[in-house]
Amino acid sequence: MSGYQLADNVSLQGRNTFRVPARAAMMADVTRADALAELYDFAMLREGPVLVLGEGSNLLFAADFPGVIICLTMAGIRILEDDGQHALVIADAGVNWNDLVGWTLARGLCGLENMALIPGTVGASPIQNIGAYGVEVGEFIETVEAFQRDTGQIKRLSKADCEFAYRDSRFKQQADRWVITAVELRLPRRRELQLDYAGVREEIAGMGVGNPRAVHVAEAISRIRTRKLPNPSVLGNAGSFFKNPIVPGALALALKDAHPALPVYPGDSATTRKLSAAWLIESAGWKGYREGDAGIAAQHALVLVNHGNATGAQLLSLAHRVADSVQEKFAVALEPEPRLIGANWEHR
Ligand SMILES: Cc1cc2nc3c(=O)[nH]c(=O)nc-3n(C[C@H](O)[C@H](O)[C@H](O)COP(=O)(O)OP(=O)(O)OC[C@H]3O[C@@H](n4cnc5c(N)ncnc54)[C@H](O)[C@@H]3O)c2cc1C
Repeated sequence: MSGYQLADNVSLQGRNTFRVPARAAMMADVTRADALAELYDFAMLREGPVLVLGEGSNLLFAADFPGVIICLTMAGIRILEDDGQHALVIADAGVNWNDLVGWTLARGLCGLENMALIPGTVGASPIQNIGAYGVEVGEFIETVEAFQRDTGQIKRLSKADCEFAYRDSRFKQQADRWVITAVELRLPRRRELQLDYAGVREEIAGMGVGNPRAVHVAEAISRIRTRKLPNPSVLGNAGSFFKNPIVPGALALALKDAHPALPVYPGDSATTRKLSAAWLIESAGWKGYREGDAGIAAQHALVLVNHGNATGAQLLSLAHRVADSVQEKFAVALEPEPRLIGANWEHR
């Protein structure tokens, strides 16, 4: 058993949540982490472009992919240690993220409840340090196991090695270097619930729950997300298309003076602030805009959508125009959150 299976000229349309048409020159489905070393011995992987693909919920194919796409299908979850207060859980890269959230909650472990219903795989979760409703996965990750392309070895990276930041990590910065094969998370059995974010308390009260536990938080957040975000199986999208911009404090202050309704959050240092990209885009008049099959969601200004037959290039062109108009109106540069394949955001 080689641990991988190769196929030529594969359609990617069903493998990205924007559902844009694109093809890969070759696809490798990998069933065992230790097969990666052998696979990377092929000239096409050693020398040519390689892309690791999870569920395709955080990338936009602006063109066909001329190299090899790797999909990891290992999907086990188990508890490595449990001292009664915390458990160390290991999940393979191919596990669906929301399945892991449900698996841990069902075993009385908490921490991941605010990240319920984020699409994608466990293997992709450290890439942009996924987060929602005030919690990020980096808080719980103890170790990431990853195949290192330049050495051909599987390496164990500690949380500090991963360099987690807002929607960022070492893996995102060095996109072609790592193939994440498994993630270890240390999860508590008891923890103060984080309910202070965008309607969570109200949703729980509406569910008739007086003394909520982590499972109720996951349920409430799943309900809010289902209402607020377009379902990619109905309307192609990749969630938030733009990151919330982090700007100098002085610019945030000036903008807040001119636009008192603008939401301003703490930045990544004492001298910066984070602005709401959704507010900026909505104020620039883009919410619900549609041009052919490319558009901005009517429910949420941050979500770029494919109404049916838009191409990646058309979606990207609309995203550029949205960013240009925000730059013109507010002097704030927006950056995309999903990875662009076959295009460069700065060089158009
Ligand atoms: C409706 C919707 C809502 C969303 N909401 C949120 C949210 O609330 N918070 C949030 O943080 N994100 C959100 N996202 C984005 C997305 O769910 C996450 O980024 C998710 O982690 C992507 O997982 P994936 O398996 O689909 O990765 P893919 O889209 O397949 O890949 C994304 C990136 O990760 C790399 N990658 C994937 N797997 C591996 C691996 N094993 N090793 C190395 N690199 C890898 C890819 O090469 C690519 O660069 C949302 C997306 C959608 C469609």
